[in-house]
Amino acid sequence: MNKQLELVKDFHKKFNVPILETPRAEIGDRAQLRFNLIKEEVDEYIKGVEDNDPENIAKELCDILYCVYGTILEHGLQDVIDEIFEEVHKSQMSKTYSSQKMIKGDEYKEANISKFFKN
Ligand SMILES: [Mg+2]
Repeated sequence: MNKQLELVKDFHKKFNVPILETPRAEIGDRAQLRFNLIKEEVDEYIKGVEDNDPENIAKELCDILYCVYGTILEHGLQDVIDEIFEEVHKSQMSKTYSSQKMIKGDEYKEANISKFFKN
């Protein structure tokens, strides 16, 4: 688990915010709350951009990360998220640049996420 995720875990423990020990999709009303928190921070990030305010942009990007890490904990994904990120990264790196945009060319490899959920 990376350091930032550990710090957010400390926050969850301090304020009794749920932390699941194993991956689970169904988290009840918490999913909508997590969505709302992330969306609120994304909206604040856009405000920072519109205001041409680099300090606020940095602050809101941290808020977004904080909310995303919290959501990872609430879904119990903390023990697999680093490996999944690397898998997604490999997939991203397999994309091709063509006609001034990233595309899924002949070399593209879809991220294999299911392998992290098989026992
Ligand atoms: Mg914020």
